[in-house]
Amino acid sequence: MTISPEREAALLASVPTGLLIDGEWRDASDGGTFDVHDPATGKVIATLASATSEDAKAALDAADAAQADWARTPARVRSDILRRAFELINERAEDFALLMTLEMGKPLAEARGEVAYGNEFLRWFSEEAVRDYGRYLTTPEGKNKILVQNKPVGPCLLITPWNFPLAMATRKVGPAVAAGCTMVLKPAKLTPLTSQLFAAVMLEAGLPAGVLNVVSGNSASAISGPIMKDRRLRKVSFTGSTPVGRQLLKDAADNVLRTSMELGGNAPFIVFEDADLDKAVEGAMAAKMRNMGEACTAANRFLVQDTIAEEFTRKFAEAMGRLKPGRGTEDSSTVGPLIDGGARDDVHQLVSAAVSAGAEAVCGGEPIDGDGYFYAPTVLGNVPNDAAILNEEIFGPVAPVTTFETEEQAIRLANASEYGLASYLFTQDYARMFRVAEQIEFGMVGFNAGVISNAAAPFGGVKQSGLGREGGAEGIAEYSTVQYIGIADPYAE
Ligand code: NAD
Repeated sequence: MTISPEREAALLASVPTGLLIDGEWRDASDGGTFDVHDPATGKVIATLASATSEDAKAALDAADAAQADWARTPARVRSDILRRAFELINERAEDFALLMTLEMGKPLAEARGEVAYGNEFLRWFSEEAVRDYGRYLTTPEGKNKILVQNKPVGPCLLITPWNFPLAMATRKVGPAVAAGCTMVLKPAKLTPLTSQLFAAVMLEAGLPAGVLNVVSGNSASAISGPIMKDRRLRKVSFTGSTPVGRQLLKDAADNVLRTSMELGGNAPFIVFEDADLDKAVEGAMAAKMRNMGEACTAANRFLVQDTIAEEFTRKFAEAMGRLKPGRGTEDSSTVGPLIDGGARDDVHQLVSAAVSAGAEAVCGGEPIDGDGYFYAPTVLGNVPNDAAILNEEIFGPVAPVTTFETEEQAIRLANASEYGLASYLFTQDYARMFRVAEQIEFGMVGFNAGVISNAAAPFGGVKQSGLGREGGAEGIAEYSTVQYIGIADPYAE
Protein backbone atom coordinates (compact mmCIF):
# COMPACT_ATOMS: atom_id res chain seq x y z
CA MET A 1 0.00 0.00 0.00
CA THR A 2 1.45 3.38 -0.99
CA ILE A 3 2.14 5.57 2.03
CA SER A 4 -0.14 8.58 2.62
CA PRO A 5 1.30 12.11 3.05
CA GLU A 6 -0.37 12.25 6.51
CA ARG A 7 1.49 9.14 7.64
CA GLU A 8 4.80 10.60 6.41
CA ALA A 9 4.14 13.90 8.18
CA ALA A 10 3.17 12.22 11.46
CA LEU A 11 6.32 10.10 11.46
CA LEU A 12 8.58 13.04 10.62
CA ALA A 13 6.96 15.09 13.39
CA SER A 14 7.82 12.33 15.91
CA VAL A 15 11.57 12.48 15.24
CA PRO A 16 13.56 14.54 17.77
CA THR A 17 15.18 17.54 16.08
CA GLY A 18 17.73 18.51 18.73
CA LEU A 19 21.23 17.42 19.65
CA LEU A 20 21.31 14.59 22.20
CA ILE A 21 23.74 15.63 24.92
CA ASP A 22 23.79 14.08 28.39
CA GLY A 23 20.35 12.53 27.95
CA GLU A 24 18.63 15.74 26.81
CA TRP A 25 17.60 16.98 23.40
CA ARG A 26 19.03 20.47 23.03
CA ASP A 27 19.18 23.28 20.49
CA ALA A 28 22.56 24.14 19.01
CA SER A 29 24.54 26.61 21.13
CA ASP A 30 24.31 29.20 18.34
CA GLY A 31 20.73 28.27 17.41
CA GLY A 32 21.88 26.99 13.99
CA THR A 33 19.97 24.40 11.98
CA PHE A 34 20.27 22.39 8.77
CA ASP A 35 17.72 20.83 6.42
CA VAL A 36 17.22 17.22 5.46
CA HIS A 37 15.84 16.44 1.98
CA ASP A 38 13.91 13.62 0.35
CA PRO A 39 16.11 12.61 -2.61
CA ALA A 40 13.06 11.36 -4.51
CA THR A 41 11.53 14.84 -4.58
CA GLY A 42 14.34 17.19 -3.58
CA LYS A 43 12.01 18.67 -0.94
CA VAL A 44 12.95 19.55 2.64
CA ILE A 45 11.46 16.99 5.08
CA ALA A 46 13.02 18.07 8.37
CA THR A 47 15.19 20.71 10.00
CA LEU A 48 17.60 19.67 12.74
CA ALA A 49 19.84 21.49 15.18
CA SER A 50 23.32 21.90 13.72
CA ALA A 51 26.04 21.20 16.28
CA THR A 52 28.85 23.69 16.79
CA SER A 53 32.34 22.87 18.04
CA GLU A 54 31.13 23.91 21.47
CA ASP A 55 28.25 21.41 21.29
CA ALA A 56 30.67 18.72 20.17
CA LYS A 57 32.82 19.42 23.21
CA ALA A 58 29.72 19.29 25.46
CA ALA A 59 28.88 15.88 23.96
CA LEU A 60 32.36 14.61 24.78
CA ASP A 61 32.11 16.13 28.28
CA ALA A 62 28.94 14.07 28.81
CA ALA A 63 30.49 10.89 27.40
CA ASP A 64 33.56 11.33 29.57
CA ALA A 65 31.51 11.99 32.71
CA ALA A 66 29.41 8.87 32.11
CA GLN A 67 32.33 6.56 31.27
CA ALA A 68 33.43 5.35 34.73
CA ASP A 69 29.93 4.37 35.92
CA TRP A 70 29.08 2.85 32.59
CA ALA A 71 32.21 0.68 32.63
CA ARG A 72 31.22 -0.61 36.09
CA THR A 73 27.61 -1.30 35.03
CA PRO A 74 27.09 -5.09 35.00
CA ALA A 75 27.31 -6.69 31.58
CA ARG A 76 23.85 -8.18 32.09
CA VAL A 77 22.39 -4.68 32.49
CA ARG A 78 24.09 -3.48 29.31
CA SER A 79 22.94 -6.63 27.53
CA ASP A 80 19.32 -6.13 28.64
CA ILE A 81 19.30 -2.54 27.36
CA LEU A 82 20.44 -3.70 23.94
CA ARG A 83 17.87 -6.47 23.94
CA ARG A 84 15.09 -4.04 24.89
CA ALA A 85 16.17 -1.67 22.14
CA PHE A 86 16.07 -4.60 19.70
CA GLU A 87 12.47 -5.37 20.75
CA LEU A 88 11.46 -1.69 20.52
CA ILE A 89 12.89 -1.36 17.03
CA ASN A 90 11.04 -4.53 16.00
CA GLU A 91 7.82 -2.97 17.28
CA ARG A 92 8.56 0.22 15.34
CA ALA A 93 10.08 -1.50 12.31
CA GLU A 94 7.68 0.19 9.90
CA ASP A 95 8.54 3.64 11.27
CA PHE A 96 12.27 3.01 10.92
CA ALA A 97 11.82 1.64 7.39
CA LEU A 98 9.70 4.57 6.25
CA LEU A 99 12.06 7.10 7.80
CA MET A 100 15.01 5.62 5.93
CA THR A 101 13.05 5.63 2.69
CA LEU A 102 12.14 9.27 3.20
CA GLU A 103 15.63 10.54 3.97
CA MET A 104 17.72 8.17 1.88
CA GLY A 105 15.45 7.08 -0.98
CA LYS A 106 15.69 3.28 -0.89
CA PRO A 107 12.45 1.41 -1.68
CA LEU A 108 10.45 0.42 1.41
CA ALA A 109 11.10 -3.30 0.89
CA GLU A 110 14.84 -2.62 1.06
CA ALA A 111 14.45 -0.30 4.03
CA ARG A 112 12.61 -3.10 5.86
CA GLY A 113 15.53 -5.37 5.03
CA GLU A 114 17.90 -2.85 6.57
CA VAL A 115 15.80 -2.63 9.74
CA ALA A 116 16.03 -6.42 10.10
CA TYR A 117 19.77 -6.45 9.33
CA GLY A 118 20.67 -3.36 11.37
CA ASN A 119 18.61 -4.39 14.37
CA GLU A 120 20.37 -7.77 14.50
CA PHE A 121 23.51 -5.96 15.68
CA LEU A 122 21.66 -4.99 18.84
CA ARG A 123 20.54 -8.57 19.48
CA TRP A 124 23.92 -10.03 18.56
CA PHE A 125 25.84 -7.67 20.84
CA SER A 126 23.33 -8.08 23.66
CA GLU A 127 24.39 -11.74 23.52
CA GLU A 128 28.10 -10.93 23.17
CA ALA A 129 28.05 -8.47 26.09
CA VAL A 130 27.87 -11.27 28.68
CA ARG A 131 30.41 -13.51 26.95
CA ASP A 132 33.39 -11.21 27.03
CA TYR A 133 35.94 -13.73 28.32
CA GLY A 134 39.36 -13.07 29.78
CA ARG A 135 41.87 -15.79 30.73
CA TYR A 136 44.01 -17.02 33.60
CA LEU A 137 47.13 -19.11 33.21
CA THR A 138 50.44 -20.02 34.74
CA THR A 139 53.62 -18.72 33.09
CA PRO A 140 55.62 -21.31 31.12
CA GLU A 141 58.22 -21.20 33.93
CA GLY A 142 55.51 -22.60 36.22
CA LYS A 143 55.63 -19.94 38.91
CA ASN A 144 53.87 -16.63 38.28
CA LYS A 145 50.29 -16.29 37.12
CA ILE A 146 48.87 -14.37 34.18
CA LEU A 147 45.45 -12.78 34.44
CA VAL A 148 44.02 -11.17 31.30
CA GLN A 149 40.87 -9.10 31.36
CA ASN A 150 39.03 -6.96 28.84
CA LYS A 151 38.13 -3.40 29.67
CA PRO A 152 36.17 -0.83 27.68
CA VAL A 153 38.39 1.35 25.49
CA GLY A 154 36.71 4.50 26.81
CA PRO A 155 34.83 7.35 25.13
CA CYS A 156 34.46 6.79 21.38
CA LEU A 157 33.68 9.03 18.43
CA LEU A 158 31.48 7.16 15.96
CA ILE A 159 31.14 8.67 12.47
CA THR A 160 28.65 7.12 10.05
CA PRO A 161 27.83 7.52 6.33
CA TRP A 162 24.46 8.27 4.72
CA ASN A 163 23.86 5.06 2.81
CA PHE A 164 22.69 2.68 5.57
CA PRO A 165 21.29 5.08 8.18
CA LEU A 166 20.30 2.44 10.76
CA ALA A 167 22.76 -0.40 10.21
CA MET A 168 25.87 1.79 10.21
CA ALA A 169 24.82 3.22 13.59
CA THR A 170 23.81 -0.08 15.26
CA ARG A 171 26.99 -1.78 14.00
CA LYS A 172 29.00 0.68 16.11
CA VAL A 173 26.65 1.53 18.99
CA GLY A 174 25.79 -2.16 19.64
CA PRO A 175 29.35 -3.33 20.38
CA ALA A 176 30.29 -0.07 22.14
CA VAL A 177 27.37 -0.48 24.55
CA ALA A 178 28.19 -4.17 25.01
CA ALA A 179 31.83 -3.43 25.82
CA GLY A 180 30.97 -0.57 28.21
CA CYS A 181 32.11 2.43 26.16
CA THR A 182 30.41 5.81 26.07
CA MET A 183 29.94 7.51 22.73
CA VAL A 184 29.55 10.60 20.62
CA LEU A 185 27.75 9.62 17.42
CA LYS A 186 28.06 11.91 14.40
CA PRO A 187 25.64 10.76 11.69
CA ALA A 188 25.91 11.91 8.08
CA LYS A 189 24.27 15.24 7.42
CA LEU A 190 22.30 13.80 4.48
CA THR A 191 20.49 11.12 6.54
CA PRO A 192 20.56 11.96 10.26
CA LEU A 193 16.87 11.30 11.07
CA THR A 194 17.17 7.54 11.58
CA SER A 195 19.98 8.05 14.11
CA GLN A 196 17.79 10.55 15.97
CA LEU A 197 14.96 8.03 16.25
CA PHE A 198 17.40 5.23 17.09
CA ALA A 199 18.93 7.31 19.91
CA ALA A 200 15.43 8.02 21.27
CA VAL A 201 14.80 4.25 21.33
CA MET A 202 18.10 3.63 23.15
CA LEU A 203 17.00 6.10 25.86
CA GLU A 204 13.61 4.44 26.07
CA ALA A 205 15.38 1.08 26.45
CA GLY A 206 17.12 2.43 29.54
CA LEU A 207 20.49 3.69 28.33
CA PRO A 208 21.75 6.10 31.00
CA ALA A 209 22.24 9.79 30.18
CA GLY A 210 25.58 10.62 28.61
CA VAL A 211 26.37 7.11 27.35
CA LEU A 212 25.19 7.93 23.82
CA ASN A 213 25.35 11.51 22.60
CA VAL A 214 24.29 12.43 19.05
CA VAL A 215 25.55 15.53 17.27
CA SER A 216 24.67 16.10 13.63
CA GLY A 217 25.46 19.29 11.80
CA ASN A 218 26.42 21.32 8.80
CA SER A 219 30.15 20.94 9.28
CA ALA A 220 31.60 17.48 9.95
CA SER A 221 35.04 18.82 10.77
CA ALA A 222 33.70 21.48 13.17
CA ILE A 223 32.19 18.59 15.15
CA SER A 224 34.91 15.96 14.84
CA GLY A 225 37.91 18.33 14.98
CA PRO A 226 37.72 19.39 18.64
CA ILE A 227 36.73 15.89 19.76
CA MET A 228 39.65 14.27 17.92
CA LYS A 229 42.09 16.70 19.53
CA ASP A 230 40.73 16.07 23.04
CA ARG A 231 42.86 13.73 25.16
CA ARG A 232 39.75 12.25 26.79
CA LEU A 233 38.73 10.57 23.54
CA ARG A 234 40.10 7.01 23.24
CA LYS A 235 38.80 5.76 19.95
CA VAL A 236 37.40 6.80 16.59
CA SER A 237 35.30 4.38 14.57
CA PHE A 238 34.59 5.66 11.08
CA THR A 239 32.55 4.35 8.17
CA GLY A 240 32.80 6.37 5.01
CA SER A 241 35.03 7.18 2.09
CA THR A 242 38.72 6.30 1.95
CA PRO A 243 39.98 9.92 1.60
CA VAL A 244 38.14 11.02 4.77
CA GLY A 245 39.30 7.85 6.53
CA ARG A 246 42.92 8.63 5.65
CA GLN A 247 42.55 12.13 7.08
CA LEU A 248 41.01 10.83 10.30
CA LEU A 249 43.85 8.29 10.64
CA LYS A 250 46.33 11.16 10.44
CA ASP A 251 44.36 13.13 13.04
CA ALA A 252 44.12 10.02 15.23
CA ALA A 253 47.91 9.70 15.21
CA ASP A 254 48.30 12.93 17.19
CA ASN A 255 46.29 11.44 20.02
CA VAL A 256 47.38 7.79 19.48
CA LEU A 257 43.72 6.79 19.22
CA ARG A 258 42.40 3.32 18.65
CA THR A 259 40.82 3.32 15.19
CA SER A 260 38.34 1.25 13.21
CA MET A 261 38.02 2.21 9.57
CA GLU A 262 35.29 0.84 7.30
CA LEU A 263 36.14 2.53 4.01
CA GLY A 264 35.39 2.32 0.32
CA GLY A 265 35.24 -0.76 -1.87
CA ASN A 266 35.55 -1.86 -5.48
CA ALA A 267 34.02 -5.32 -5.36
CA PRO A 268 34.76 -7.74 -8.20
CA PHE A 269 31.94 -10.10 -9.14
CA ILE A 270 33.62 -13.06 -10.82
CA VAL A 271 31.54 -15.48 -12.87
CA PHE A 272 33.21 -18.67 -14.15
CA GLU A 273 31.85 -20.65 -17.09
CA ASP A 274 30.85 -23.51 -14.78
CA ALA A 275 28.55 -21.23 -12.71
CA ASP A 276 24.78 -21.68 -12.60
CA LEU A 277 24.09 -18.67 -14.80
CA ASP A 278 20.60 -17.90 -13.53
CA LYS A 279 21.84 -17.96 -9.94
CA ALA A 280 24.76 -15.75 -10.97
CA VAL A 281 22.35 -13.20 -12.50
CA GLU A 282 20.20 -13.32 -9.37
CA GLY A 283 23.34 -12.79 -7.25
CA ALA A 284 24.48 -9.99 -9.57
CA MET A 285 21.17 -8.17 -9.14
CA ALA A 286 21.44 -8.40 -5.36
CA ALA A 287 25.13 -7.47 -5.21
CA LYS A 288 24.71 -4.56 -7.63
CA MET A 289 21.27 -3.15 -6.95
CA ARG A 290 20.97 -3.33 -3.16
CA ASN A 291 20.69 0.31 -2.11
CA MET A 292 20.67 1.39 -5.79
CA GLY A 293 24.35 0.47 -5.94
CA GLU A 294 25.14 2.93 -3.15
CA ALA A 295 26.88 0.36 -0.96
CA CYS A 296 30.51 -0.22 -0.10
CA THR A 297 29.86 -3.90 -0.83
CA ALA A 298 28.22 -3.17 -4.21
CA ALA A 299 29.57 -5.26 -7.07
CA ASN A 300 31.56 -2.67 -8.98
CA ARG A 301 33.27 -4.79 -11.64
CA PHE A 302 31.71 -7.83 -13.31
CA LEU A 303 34.52 -10.13 -14.42
CA VAL A 304 32.93 -12.80 -16.58
CA GLN A 305 34.65 -15.70 -18.33
CA ASP A 306 34.70 -14.91 -22.06
CA THR A 307 32.82 -18.09 -23.09
CA ILE A 308 29.65 -17.03 -21.20
CA ALA A 309 30.00 -13.24 -21.18
CA GLU A 310 27.46 -12.61 -23.93
CA GLU A 311 24.76 -14.80 -22.36
CA PHE A 312 25.41 -13.44 -18.84
CA THR A 313 25.29 -9.83 -20.06
CA ARG A 314 22.04 -10.40 -21.96
CA LYS A 315 20.29 -12.08 -19.00
CA PHE A 316 21.63 -9.47 -16.58
CA ALA A 317 20.40 -6.59 -18.78
CA GLU A 318 16.98 -8.24 -19.06
CA ALA A 319 16.71 -8.44 -15.26
CA MET A 320 17.89 -4.82 -14.90
CA GLY A 321 15.35 -3.74 -17.53
CA ARG A 322 12.52 -5.18 -15.42
CA LEU A 323 13.28 -2.84 -12.49
CA LYS A 324 10.89 0.02 -11.80
CA PRO A 325 12.49 3.28 -10.65
CA GLY A 326 10.23 5.33 -8.41
CA ARG A 327 9.87 7.04 -5.05
CA GLY A 328 10.57 4.37 -2.43
CA THR A 329 7.20 4.87 -0.75
CA GLU A 330 5.35 3.71 -3.87
CA ASP A 331 4.42 0.04 -4.09
CA SER A 332 5.68 -0.35 -7.62
CA SER A 333 9.14 1.09 -6.94
CA THR A 334 12.08 -1.34 -6.99
CA VAL A 335 14.84 1.27 -7.50
CA GLY A 336 15.04 4.54 -5.63
CA PRO A 337 16.86 7.77 -6.51
CA LEU A 338 20.53 8.49 -5.88
CA ILE A 339 21.28 10.54 -2.80
CA ASP A 340 21.73 13.90 -4.53
CA GLY A 341 22.39 15.66 -7.82
CA GLY A 342 26.17 15.58 -7.40
CA ALA A 343 26.15 11.82 -6.86
CA ARG A 344 24.07 11.37 -10.00
CA ASP A 345 26.41 13.60 -12.06
CA ASP A 346 29.41 11.55 -10.86
CA VAL A 347 27.76 8.30 -11.92
CA HIS A 348 26.87 9.68 -15.34
CA GLN A 349 30.37 10.98 -15.87
CA LEU A 350 31.82 7.49 -15.26
CA VAL A 351 29.28 5.96 -17.66
CA SER A 352 29.94 8.54 -20.39
CA ALA A 353 33.71 8.07 -20.10
CA ALA A 354 33.33 4.27 -20.34
CA VAL A 355 31.11 4.58 -23.42
CA SER A 356 33.66 6.96 -25.02
CA ALA A 357 36.34 4.37 -24.29
CA GLY A 358 34.41 1.72 -26.23
CA ALA A 359 31.89 0.25 -23.77
CA GLU A 360 28.35 -0.44 -24.97
CA ALA A 361 25.29 0.57 -22.90
CA VAL A 362 23.26 -2.65 -23.18
CA CYS A 363 20.54 -1.02 -21.08
CA GLY A 364 20.17 2.35 -19.35
CA GLY A 365 23.11 4.75 -19.51
CA GLU A 366 21.22 7.97 -18.77
CA PRO A 367 19.80 9.99 -15.88
CA ILE A 368 15.99 9.84 -15.66
CA ASP A 369 14.22 13.18 -16.21
CA GLY A 370 11.78 14.55 -13.65
CA ASP A 371 11.75 15.03 -9.88
CA GLY A 372 14.47 13.50 -7.75
CA TYR A 373 17.87 12.11 -8.66
CA PHE A 374 16.99 8.92 -10.53
CA TYR A 375 19.42 7.08 -12.82
CA ALA A 376 18.40 4.32 -15.20
CA PRO A 377 19.60 0.82 -14.20
CA THR A 378 22.53 0.29 -16.53
CA VAL A 379 24.57 -2.61 -17.86
CA LEU A 380 27.72 -1.76 -19.80
CA GLY A 381 29.16 -4.48 -22.04
CA ASN A 382 32.67 -4.80 -23.52
CA VAL A 383 34.19 -2.45 -20.96
CA PRO A 384 37.94 -2.12 -21.60
CA ASN A 385 40.03 -3.47 -18.71
CA ASP A 386 41.65 -0.09 -18.13
CA ALA A 387 38.42 2.00 -18.06
CA ALA A 388 38.12 4.40 -15.10
CA ILE A 389 34.75 2.94 -14.16
CA LEU A 390 36.52 -0.29 -13.13
CA ASN A 391 38.84 1.55 -10.76
CA GLU A 392 36.47 3.90 -8.96
CA GLU A 393 33.53 3.30 -6.66
CA ILE A 394 30.53 3.86 -8.95
CA PHE A 395 27.97 4.20 -6.13
CA GLY A 396 25.07 3.93 -8.54
CA PRO A 397 22.94 1.40 -10.46
CA VAL A 398 25.57 0.74 -13.11
CA ALA A 399 27.16 -2.63 -13.87
CA PRO A 400 30.26 -2.68 -16.07
CA VAL A 401 31.00 -6.13 -17.54
CA THR A 402 34.47 -7.12 -18.66
CA THR A 403 35.89 -10.52 -19.55
CA PHE A 404 38.72 -12.89 -18.64
CA GLU A 405 40.02 -16.13 -20.12
CA THR A 406 41.67 -18.02 -17.27
CA GLU A 407 41.38 -18.38 -13.49
CA GLU A 408 44.80 -16.75 -13.05
CA GLN A 409 43.71 -13.77 -15.11
CA ALA A 410 40.49 -13.43 -13.09
CA ILE A 411 42.50 -13.37 -9.85
CA ARG A 412 44.94 -10.82 -11.28
CA LEU A 413 42.12 -8.54 -12.45
CA ALA A 414 40.25 -8.86 -9.14
CA ASN A 415 43.38 -7.89 -7.20
CA ALA A 416 44.17 -4.95 -9.50
CA SER A 417 42.49 -2.47 -7.18
CA GLU A 418 43.61 -0.39 -4.25
CA TYR A 419 40.48 -1.60 -2.42
CA GLY A 420 39.87 -4.93 -0.73
CA LEU A 421 36.44 -5.03 0.90
CA ALA A 422 33.81 -7.39 -0.59
CA SER A 423 34.20 -9.78 -3.52
CA TYR A 424 31.85 -12.27 -5.13
CA LEU A 425 32.64 -15.56 -6.78
CA PHE A 426 30.25 -17.71 -8.81
CA THR A 427 31.35 -21.23 -9.69
CA GLN A 428 30.12 -24.74 -8.94
CA ASP A 429 33.67 -25.99 -8.42
CA TYR A 430 34.46 -25.99 -4.68
CA ALA A 431 38.18 -26.54 -5.22
CA ARG A 432 38.19 -23.42 -7.38
CA MET A 433 36.30 -21.54 -4.68
CA PHE A 434 39.10 -22.29 -2.18
CA ARG A 435 41.87 -21.52 -4.69
CA VAL A 436 40.41 -18.17 -5.68
CA ALA A 437 39.36 -17.17 -2.15
CA GLU A 438 42.90 -17.83 -0.90
CA GLN A 439 44.46 -15.72 -3.60
CA ILE A 440 42.18 -12.71 -3.78
CA GLU A 441 42.97 -9.83 -1.45
CA PHE A 442 39.55 -9.05 -0.02
CA GLY A 443 38.25 -9.08 3.54
CA MET A 444 35.03 -10.77 2.44
CA VAL A 445 34.15 -13.29 -0.25
CA GLY A 446 30.60 -14.17 -1.27
CA PHE A 447 30.57 -17.69 -2.72
CA ASN A 448 27.51 -18.11 -4.97
CA ALA A 449 25.95 -15.40 -2.80
CA GLY A 450 25.16 -11.80 -3.71
CA VAL A 451 24.47 -10.59 -0.14
CA ILE A 452 26.91 -11.47 2.62
CA SER A 453 26.39 -8.89 5.38
CA ASN A 454 25.33 -10.46 8.67
CA ALA A 455 25.63 -9.37 12.29
CA ALA A 456 27.33 -12.67 13.17
CA ALA A 457 30.06 -12.24 10.53
CA PRO A 458 33.21 -10.10 10.73
CA PHE A 459 32.64 -7.27 8.24
CA GLY A 460 35.64 -5.34 7.00
CA GLY A 461 38.32 -4.89 4.43
CA VAL A 462 42.03 -4.97 3.66
CA LYS A 463 44.26 -2.54 1.70
CA GLN A 464 42.61 0.88 1.28
CA SER A 465 39.25 -0.51 2.42
CA GLY A 466 40.13 -0.16 6.04
CA LEU A 467 41.18 -1.52 9.38
CA GLY A 468 39.24 -3.61 11.89
CA ARG A 469 36.02 -5.59 11.72
CA GLU A 470 32.41 -4.93 12.68
CA GLY A 471 30.07 -7.72 13.74
CA GLY A 472 30.91 -11.30 14.61
CA ALA A 473 33.06 -12.27 17.56
CA GLU A 474 35.55 -9.65 16.35
CA GLY A 475 33.13 -6.73 16.70
CA ILE A 476 33.27 -6.30 20.47
CA ALA A 477 37.07 -6.55 20.53
CA GLU A 478 37.22 -3.26 18.62
CA TYR A 479 35.77 -1.56 21.72
CA SER A 480 37.78 -3.49 24.32
CA THR A 481 41.29 -3.09 25.51
CA VAL A 482 43.27 -5.86 27.16
CA GLN A 483 44.74 -5.52 30.62
CA TYR A 484 47.27 -8.06 31.88
CA ILE A 485 47.88 -8.51 35.58
CA GLY A 486 51.08 -10.39 36.44
CA ILE A 487 50.67 -12.23 39.77
CA ALA A 488 53.67 -13.25 41.82
CA ASP A 489 54.22 -16.97 42.48
CA PRO A 490 51.69 -17.81 45.22
CA TYR A 491 54.02 -20.65 46.43
CA ALA A 492 57.07 -18.45 46.82
CA GLU A 493 58.39 -18.22 50.38
P1 NAD B 1 32.05 10.41 3.55
O1 NAD B 1 33.44 9.96 3.82
O2 NAD B 1 31.86 11.61 2.72
O3 NAD B 1 31.29 10.72 4.92
C1 NAD B 1 31.18 9.76 5.94
C2 NAD B 1 30.98 10.47 7.26
O4 NAD B 1 32.16 11.22 7.54
C3 NAD B 1 29.83 11.46 7.29
O5 NAD B 1 29.23 11.45 8.57
C4 NAD B 1 30.53 12.80 7.04
O6 NAD B 1 29.82 13.89 7.57
C5 NAD B 1 31.81 12.57 7.79
N1 NAD B 1 32.93 13.42 7.36
C6 NAD B 1 33.17 13.91 6.14
N2 NAD B 1 34.29 14.67 6.15
C7 NAD B 1 34.76 14.62 7.42
C8 NAD B 1 35.88 15.18 8.08
N3 NAD B 1 36.76 15.93 7.43
N4 NAD B 1 36.05 14.91 9.39
C9 NAD B 1 35.19 14.14 10.05
N5 NAD B 1 34.10 13.58 9.49
C10 NAD B 1 33.89 13.81 8.19
O7 NAD B 1 31.27 9.14 2.98
P2 NAD B 1 29.77 9.05 2.53
O8 NAD B 1 29.63 9.72 1.21
O9 NAD B 1 28.85 9.45 3.64
O10 NAD B 1 29.60 7.47 2.37
C11 NAD B 1 29.98 6.80 1.23
C12 NAD B 1 31.33 6.13 1.45
O11 NAD B 1 31.25 5.30 2.60
C13 NAD B 1 31.70 5.22 0.31
O12 NAD B 1 33.07 5.36 0.03
C14 NAD B 1 31.42 3.83 0.87
O13 NAD B 1 32.15 2.80 0.29
C15 NAD B 1 31.77 4.02 2.30
N6 NAD B 1 31.12 3.00 3.13
C16 NAD B 1 31.90 2.03 3.66
C17 NAD B 1 31.31 1.02 4.42
C18 NAD B 1 32.15 -0.07 5.01
O14 NAD B 1 31.64 -0.75 5.90
N7 NAD B 1 33.38 -0.28 4.59
C19 NAD B 1 29.94 1.03 4.65
C20 NAD B 1 29.17 2.05 4.09
C21 NAD B 1 29.79 3.05 3.33
